Amino acid sequence: MIVVKFGGTSVGDAAAIDRAASIVRGRMPGRPLVIVSAMSGVTNALIDISDQASRGQLVLAVRGVEALREKHLQALADLVPDESVASEVGAELSASFDDLARLAEALSVLGYCTARSQDALVAQGELLSSQLVTAAFQVRGIPAEFVDARQVMTTDDRFGRAEPQVDAIAERARERFLPILREGRIPVAGGFIGATAEGVTTTLGRGGSDYSASLFGAALQADAIEIWTDVDGMLTADPRVVPTARLIERIRFDEASELASFGAKVLHPSTITPAVRRGIPVYVYNSRRPDGTGTLITSDAPRRPVSAIAAKSQTTVVKLRSARMLLAHGFLRTVFEVFERHHISIDVIATSEVSLSVTLDHAENLEALLVDLRGLGDVSVERGRGIVSIVGAGLTDASNAMARAFTALGDVRVHMASVSATGINLTLVLDADQVTPAMQRLHDAFFGAAPAAP
Ligand code: ASP
Ligand code: MG
Repeated sequence: MIVVKFGGTSVGDAAAIDRAASIVRGRMPGRPLVIVSAMSGVTNALIDISDQASRGQLVLAVRGVEALREKHLQALADLVPDESVASEVGAELSASFDDLARLAEALSVLGYCTARSQDALVAQGELLSSQLVTAAFQVRGIPAEFVDARQVMTTDDRFGRAEPQVDAIAERARERFLPILREGRIPVAGGFIGATAEGVTTTLGRGGSDYSASLFGAALQADAIEIWTDVDGMLTADPRVVPTARLIERIRFDEASELASFGAKVLHPSTITPAVRRGIPVYVYNSRRPDGTGTLITSDAPRRPVSAIAAKSQTTVVKLRSARMLLAHGFLRTVFEVFERHHISIDVIATSEVSLSVTLDHAENLEALLVDLRGLGDVSVERGRGIVSIVGAGLTDASNAMARAFTALGDVRVHMASVSATGINLTLVLDADQVTPAMQRLHDAFFGAAPAAP
């Protein structure tokens, strides 16, 4: 069996759901389990509704609920022309909207919203989309069957960011999904939502439906997991910076993980860990262009010297020089404790015998930190820097990739350099205004300057 997961934009309106149906029809021989996000924008809208209601703005909140009702019923009408079928499904969906309206009212009376109440409210997004998608598939001749994901996704009670209970999920996934799959039918369930062992609704945290897909896939030992989204896959660079950026057809999981912190919004690698750990290939596809190659993420894709180049355009460097570092032990610990005390997180680090350089993503309120650091040595702060990272599993193998990178940079000044422990990420700190030219030169050097095929 395979897991086929559609993100919010891939079920964002009737046309998108129609495309999803065609995609699933083409996947039928693979015996798909379908996981869906809420329709795009719905989770945000639900969070707004809970905020407004608990601030006492009940009229606004109710208006929000009505807009959601309108959105779903409109999609239903477009997808299910037969009025008697549509009204039957509409009645099921209405129950959710009535629940929502009641929840909003309750929150406005209370004047506050707990994480538990918010989960009850926000979970409606995936419940609605999965019921809607099931109905749309059925009228298109796909033998879909709605499954309430809360009956399978057992979690702890950390509301808003609940921890999945893997053993319970495996057992329930086999109980709930396998009989449907064996009969040649297609279970459809919402991602992102779960319930405690006692049956209280929870959610896995924003973007959690990829995590659901991966957990279910791991539980059922799926042959593959397909993540359908609105981009072609992972690219060799941000196409807004490097117009010749091209699709990465296969990427290693560890490389994808290194790229995650660069806002490559395709998916967060940690959400697919359960699948990758079991050796299940994960594909990322564009539901608007279902014939595209997509990106395959696996733990054993070929080790290329360079797979992608990523950048952050603004960063701040803090440098500390101190003779006390010389041959001393425990000095770095003292320094890092200062950062910890001021809740300032560090990104890149480079050290020499008498100096330490770090970069910070957020450089607000540094004064108090700097006062403490000055007690340890000479401190300088350099603003207006940027970061370029060259990522490739074979980067530090006996390839000349490092030499090529520095040659390509030419006269671009490098203020700091750091190679990750895994040897797959060379990070360079440059002047912020050099980030774009550096990205282009590096990309030309490793991927060629020719326009990429689409
Ligand atoms: N609907 C949820 C969100 O927007 C989960 C997801 O889309 O993955 O965060
Ligand atoms: Mg989403």
